[in-house]
Amino acid sequence: MSLTLWAGRVDVVSGDITRLDVDAIVNAANHSLMGGGGVDGAIYRAAGPALKRACRALRETHWPDGLPDGEVALTEGFELPARYVIHTVGPVYAKTRDKSHLLANCYRNAVALAAETGCRRIAFPAISTGVYGYPFDDAAHIVIDTLHDALAIHDLRVTLCFFSERDYQAFAEIAMRRGVAD
Ligand code: ADP
Repeated sequence: MSLTLWAGRVDVVSGDITRLDVDAIVNAANHSLMGGGGVDGAIYRAAGPALKRACRALRETHWPDGLPDGEVALTEGFELPARYVIHTVGPVYAKTRDKSHLLANCYRNAVALAAETGCRRIAFPAISTGVYGYPFDDAAHIVIDTLHDALAIHDLRVTLCFFSERDYQAFAEIAMRRGVAD
């Protein structure tokens, strides 16, 4: 099953992002860059121990106070099929004031960094919609709006990777309702 948006610029799939053979996958990381649960844990496990070392080094050299919400940081993908991991921190829904702006920044900054790095294909998980509690439908609208603008600037292809079939279906319905699905 697959859905595309905007004449194939965006692929929407259901599955495990660590399996995707793209140039970069985005990690819904936490401030510490030290790994966690959810998609973060899956990416750390699949990338192997070198990812943890790279994140520790990045934190020491660039982000001693942790990676702020909406910012992005680049590492290699190590044992992943993807060449790079772009780490970003989504807002915690219940605790953050400017959350829609910060969630949009995650997508906007990740696309820009991927383009700067020479990537042609980047894959995103559903940032903030797990443990961080962002309502799925609200996040989906932000993703659509932000990618619409970012892909007008950067020549990239994006994969939106939803872990559950239910999330895939929910996103597909919103995309069709908004008239952005092919
Ligand atoms: P956050 O803390 O930003 O909310 P989570 O990791 O808790 O991040 O959840 C974000 C989304 O990632 C959720 O929809 C979750 O189901 C999904 N997810 C978890 N594991 C994977 C995976 N291996 N591939 C893709 N998505 C995943």
